Amino acid sequence: WDFLRQKHETKSMRDKYIASSCQLFFRRDPLKMVRGSMQYMYEQDGTEYLDCINNVAHVGHCHPHVVQAGFKQMRTLQTNNRYLHDHIVTLAERLCSTLPSQLCVCFFVNSGSEANDLAQRLALYYTKNRDGICLDHAYHGHVMSCIGISPYKFMHGGSEEKKPDHIHVVPTPDRYRGKYRDDQMSMSELTDAYVGEVQSACDSVAAAGRGVSFFISESMQSCGGQVIFPPGYLRRVYDIVRRSGGVCIADEVQTGFGRVGSKWWAFQLDDDQLVPDIVTIGKPMGNGHPISAVITTPAIAEAFRRGPDYFNTYGGNPVSCAIALAVLDVIEQDKLRENAVRVGEHLKRRLQEMQPRHPMMGDVRGAGMFLGIDMVLCRRTRQPAGQAAETVLWRLRSEHIIMSLDGPHENILKFKPPMCFSLANANQLCDTLDRIFTEVEADLAASAAAAAAATAVAATAATAAAAVAAAAAAAGKPDREKNGGCR
Ligand code: PMP
Repeated sequence: WDFLRQKHETKSMRDKYIASSCQLFFRRDPLKMVRGSMQYMYEQDGTEYLDCINNVAHVGHCHPHVVQAGFKQMRTLQTNNRYLHDHIVTLAERLCSTLPSQLCVCFFVNSGSEANDLAQRLALYYTKNRDGICLDHAYHGHVMSCIGISPYKFMHGGSEEKKPDHIHVVPTPDRYRGKYRDDQMSMSELTDAYVGEVQSACDSVAAAGRGVSFFISESMQSCGGQVIFPPGYLRRVYDIVRRSGGVCIADEVQTGFGRVGSKWWAFQLDDDQLVPDIVTIGKPMGNGHPISAVITTPAIAEAFRRGPDYFNTYGGNPVSCAIALAVLDVIEQDKLRENAVRVGEHLKRRLQEMQPRHPMMGDVRGAGMFLGIDMVLCRRTRQPAGQAAETVLWRLRSEHIIMSLDGPHENILKFKPPMCFSLANANQLCDTLDRIFTEVEADLAASAAAAAAATAVAATAATAAAAVAAAAAAAGKPDREKNGGCR
């Protein structure tokens, strides 16, 4: 396959043969990448792009140690996991050594969706209950059982898949723009309020004469817009859910494998004594190769044993396990968690220093290599700047930097790069953002002034507030479809 089609030809073949619901990034003018190396990707014409969002290429695109491990195992043996093999057991042992000791039994699967589907099955067998609780705006996978716990998808306008009756959605504990906000109440009041919502969901299950099966959440919500939960939230929620008969599932598909830097797993960040009952992992695990896992307690695994034999054709195959072992090697050898702390903290600090100069930067949050900037039209009202954020994204692209947007208003600039992202990359990103924010803010101010002038013609007593409102309206509504949804 040495030939390369012209980009426009690839695009028209894609339009013809690939389902249109599989959306591209930058749909108006998609990129055609032909090569990747560490934190960079290269377009067909050789243009280099700095990748600030690919959390799957965790240790770097095409990292040679990972590529070599896959190649070596592929030419040696590839089969299913019904034979004894050292890779699967070594991988299980190494993964468990990063987790609390209670979490010591592994199932290997091929995607985050499969992992979250299996997690729900485990919960059913262990608790014998069916009711599940998930967070608003959550995304946990594309199979039907996971769409059912993904308001991010089933709340979408055209979705035929509605919330299943046995699933209960509670508000995402987003202190900045959630149901309870830190400009309206203290942190402890809002934590109580968000925890109270979970208690109410459990109470309503109990009132119907049933028990809870599971609570599932990421420990920092990525699709919801890089949301950091208030301190103590998960600990209190886990206690409530367990008292109601349920188990607690931590979805670490995006946030795991040291992305948060100081810990291996995001659920440990706020409280390193917190122990979920089931952890699901994926994406970074194979650095782009499909391998995922579910890790749980012996008691939960034993309850599942009552059911039929669990077989998964590709889950835990020797090639995938060799690759995942190589990923763990690189995280340790290249000290990528330490890098996430150093570079992530530096980047967050620099962004926070920029914040007072840029009214668009409503909130800067995150940990390690998982950061978000909540872009606003007005700091006081926190009105989301979806359209302006979209403009920022395209301006970044024209400077060969790839970022993405997320959150219910598509206004959160999302940063989750390969973990080898360097200090120089962080400085380049900040310098570029600083310049682009200045330009976009100037454009916004100009359209506000134009809107004010127009309003003044219509009614001589036009106020500045009206001008700002007009500018906000002109900024348009965010549209998740426009940029091809990322994740
Ligand atoms: N959980 C989370 C938090 C995710 O972000 C995703 C994928 N974006 C999944 C589960 C599903 O993973 P996969 O696409 O590998 O099925």
